[in-house]
Amino acid sequence: MERPRVLGCHPGGGRPDRRAHRVLQRGGGTVVTRTQIDTYHLPPRLEGAWALLRSGDPRVRAVSGGTDLTIACPPEVTTLVDLSQAVPAQITVGDDGEIEIGAMATLTAMSQHPAVAAHATGVIPEMLFHVGSPLLRNVCTIGGHLVRGKLSDVVPVLIALDAEVTIHRGGDTRLTLAEYYGRGHHEQPHVLTAVHLPVLPPQTGSAFLRFARTAFDFPLANCCARISRADGSAVRIVIGAVPQRDQRAFEAEAIVASRGFDDA
Ligand SMILES: Cc1cc2nc3c(=O)[nH]c(=O)nc-3n(C[C@H](O)[C@H](O)[C@H](O)COP(=O)(O)OP(=O)(O)OC[C@H]3O[C@@H](n4cnc5c(N)ncnc54)[C@H](O)[C@@H]3O)c2cc1C
Repeated sequence: MERPRVLGCHPGGGRPDRRAHRVLQRGGGTVVTRTQIDTYHLPPRLEGAWALLRSGDPRVRAVSGGTDLTIACPPEVTTLVDLSQAVPAQITVGDDGEIEIGAMATLTAMSQHPAVAAHATGVIPEMLFHVGSPLLRNVCTIGGHLVRGKLSDVVPVLIALDAEVTIHRGGDTRLTLAEYYGRGHHEQPHVLTAVHLPVLPPQTGSAFLRFARTAFDFPLANCCARISRADGSAVRIVIGAVPQRDQRAFEAEAIVASRGFDDA
């Protein structure tokens, strides 16, 4: 295993601050600063990352884009495991047409990839346009987004597209997103390594809508609908915002499927 690197933080340009929990009081609340991190690992391979994360020690956290951890790092965390070398960022299309998105792919890379952009009439870039800002999307990764399991525009869309994830726990397991959240896998020690978008039937259309206080805010509610006309049973209506509670609206799906579809 490679030697841990100690982060030197230089508040005010002075000596490195290695106090484990430098706590600020702000408006009556408590903010733990990033100087709480004293050890930073950059494992070159997945096995090395898993060896550091497998115990589930609450002081040790994986980091991908770091946009969530930077603003909401639990106070007990002192060690980060950077996944940027251990987990792929490539987006590939298999011989069968399935799209595999490496978990380190940024949201920008996803929205700009031609196969992802064309998938299901372009609902992924349509949705990603609303996630934070371009600067945020340039940094945050699909893996970090899914593992954090908080307010999300991404999850309802991926559920509507029947997306699956691969998680690593010494070996690889492939799960639907509903299983991943429904069975609490996202809260167990694991490394999320890939997202899979299966081929959809021909004549598939999809749409995404969100409601938020301002364009930059997190969603209060959102919805993704996907209809595959060539296969009348393939109707997905997912109402969401909070991954663990994202719901397929089975009753609405059945009503839509029973009415058939016209060209509009
Ligand atoms: C200002 C702001 C605005 C935002 N607006 C929106 C919005 O409008 N809509 C929306 O849907 N989202 C929004 N987000 C959420 C944003 O999309 C997430 O912060 C981001 O996707 C997290 O990705 P990351 O790579 O930075 O995760 P990180 O911060 O690196 O990690 C997040 C969590 O996942 C764990 N982790 C990371 N990668 C892996 C992995 N591969 N395997 C296992 N564990 C892992 C980390 O330990 C951590 O607990 C916003 C965020 C910010 C900061």
